[in-house]
Amino acid sequence: MTDTIRHDWTLEELRAVHDLPLLELVFRAATVHRAHHDPSEMQVSKLISIKTGACPEDCSYCAQSSRYSTGVAPERLMETGRVVEIAERAKAAGVSRVCLGAAWREVKDNAQFDRVLEMVRSVTDMGLEVCCTLGMLDEHQAKRLEEAGLYAYNHNVDSSAEFYETIITTRTYADRLRTLENVRKTNLTMCSGGIIGLGESVDDRLKMVQTLSQVRPHPESVPINILSKVEGTPMAGNEDVPVWEVIRMIATARIVMPKSDVRLTAGRVKLDATAQALCFLAGANSIFSSETEFMLTKAVPSPSYDKDRELLEILGLKMRGPFKNGRPQDAAVPATALG
Ligand code: SAM
Ligand code: SF4
Repeated sequence: MTDTIRHDWTLEELRAVHDLPLLELVFRAATVHRAHHDPSEMQVSKLISIKTGACPEDCSYCAQSSRYSTGVAPERLMETGRVVEIAERAKAAGVSRVCLGAAWREVKDNAQFDRVLEMVRSVTDMGLEVCCTLGMLDEHQAKRLEEAGLYAYNHNVDSSAEFYETIITTRTYADRLRTLENVRKTNLTMCSGGIIGLGESVDDRLKMVQTLSQVRPHPESVPINILSKVEGTPMAGNEDVPVWEVIRMIATARIVMPKSDVRLTAGRVKLDATAQALCFLAGANSIFSSETEFMLTKAVPSPSYDKDRELLEILGLKMRGPFKNGRPQDAAVPATALG
């Protein structure tokens, strides 16, 4: 069955999907993918770290936490002009979405937020989708971002509730879900996913997929990050995730959330072209690309525009244009809350 959208997946059902023989799983995921998406299209985003480092949170994987000595030099909030310059180069490279990331715990109603709203307006006016990932936010702040033309808000649940609380102590899983609820009170699209390779079990990964599948409607975009091991963080010595487990996660997310874009995000740089092709076959239809080999921070690299152009050409994939699914602000009916 390829066209049923469900919010009631049990852990046992998720396990049965995830544990299918690998090629059967990829085949089923590819079938679902083809029923809901143009399989010749790849959505390409560019991430701009508008405020880097010195974050008060203690997320154990993160290069930007002030708790760890990671060598990331803190930077002040970027000037809007600089953001526009980077966005112009991204647009020229065929990118359809610019993601503005800030190493903040939460959004505050201050001049810095006003500047982010100005960035959102400026980049949206260039005809690009804009996504923000700024930490926790309330309903009013989500509304202000929507009014500025924001396309998507990213806030990852990152893992299962139980495991999350062992890797981050400065906020709770419930805080995370509250922000997602605030996003769903607007017409913004939602981007939410997680990381594999934190030391979690397969059940933790599946509980995360279950949490995401309970959001109504499903997040429009679901990033699957592979941990980028950052020297100085508690996770620097974690074991690598076998590529087969990455493919299983992508395929499971694709089958469970058929309409969502599944994003192969952090850690893609570690996968060779053949492994990436398998991930795309298994339903990943969105990537981050960058003008240099770096994204988010110097500790979390991403492949370059040139390398990606070459890969997409080899695979016969074309870059998807912006606003293929319309602008969220044009939506007639407000999205409903978490289920
Ligand atoms: N401060 C905001 C927040 O935490 O929501 C936004 C920025 S934060 C860096 C965005 C996401 O990047 C995290 O939720 C996590 O999924 C991902 N991320 C951060 N560091 C990573 C790493 N070392 N490896 C893989 N993913 C990472
Ligand atoms: Fe801060 Fe976000 Fe990094 Fe956590 S993931 S330390 S909140 S920047």
